[in-house]
Amino acid sequence: MTLARGLARPHVRLSLTHRLARSAAAAVILLGAAASGCGPAPSGPAAGTITVVTTTTVFADMVANVGGDFVRVTSLVPKNGDVHTFEPRPADVRTIAGARLLVMNGLGLDDWLERTITNAAASGTPLLRLGVDLPGVELLPGEDAATQNPHLWLDVSYAERYVDRIAAALKAVDPAHAADYERQAAAYDARLQALDAAIRPKPATIPEADRRVVMFHDAFPYFARAYGITIVGVAVEAPGQAPSAGYTADLIRVIRAAGVKAIFSESQFPTKLVDQLAGETGTIVVADLFSDTLGDPPVTSYEALITWDVDHLVAALR
Ligand SMILES: [Zn+2]
Repeated sequence: MTLARGLARPHVRLSLTHRLARSAAAAVILLGAAASGCGPAPSGPAAGTITVVTTTTVFADMVANVGGDFVRVTSLVPKNGDVHTFEPRPADVRTIAGARLLVMNGLGLDDWLERTITNAAASGTPLLRLGVDLPGVELLPGEDAATQNPHLWLDVSYAERYVDRIAAALKAVDPAHAADYERQAAAYDARLQALDAAIRPKPATIPEADRRVVMFHDAFPYFARAYGITIVGVAVEAPGQAPSAGYTADLIRVIRAAGVKAIFSESQFPTKLVDQLAGETGTIVVADLFSDTLGDPPVTSYEALITWDVDHLVAALR
């Protein structure tokens, strides 16, 4: 376990990002109020529970599975929100100030959390970066050669490593329940191993040539590598950035050349661009995959998300 590398110790004071700058005074006051316990009473944690704040609903679900009744988890990015383009609001700053443990991915996915927290001596709230320096992981390139793709959790075997890190972090902040966290993490890990084994054979039922796909954003390279899917292109180089006409024209050529059958997008993104790509190439669009966020029932857990994605991919390519 390399908790020390993933678990940095920022101090809780607010850095003022562009958007927060205007409300700097209010944010700092709110932080002070929360810290001194005289702020607006949240529907607060029961005695003995650890408040954990995560950047996404996916990580919140993982923490809830490991923490069970001993944690109260809040995700900053709401369900169906876009973590890549999220901007924390003053209310999020208040949420962050009340955390005993902060959980993010890192690798460029949710670095806005670090920009919201800067050094101050007042607090040692630990910050767990799930995807940073994760042992035994082979990173893939990100938007450019200098970055790494952050979406490690979509390979279930890598998600199991996230779970180990979450357990170690909870044990560190709440040693009284260390045995509970270990037990709950072991049970969750066992379920994830079974999930990985259950989904692994499914894509192989599709001929390899039919497993070539285009994704909306570059969320699935680890998933694709693990489960035998070939991603021949992505519609946007990064969420929030419209592709150039030249980029899209190149992608259309690639889709035709590779005989791509389906273009996949995720529930939190608009479908205009993938609809246009499909219209020009005669492919179908499947616009309800999940990657960075949980969704409405039945996709209310990480395990359900993985099952949903594999089943919808296979059904579309069949
Ligand atoms: Zn993403």
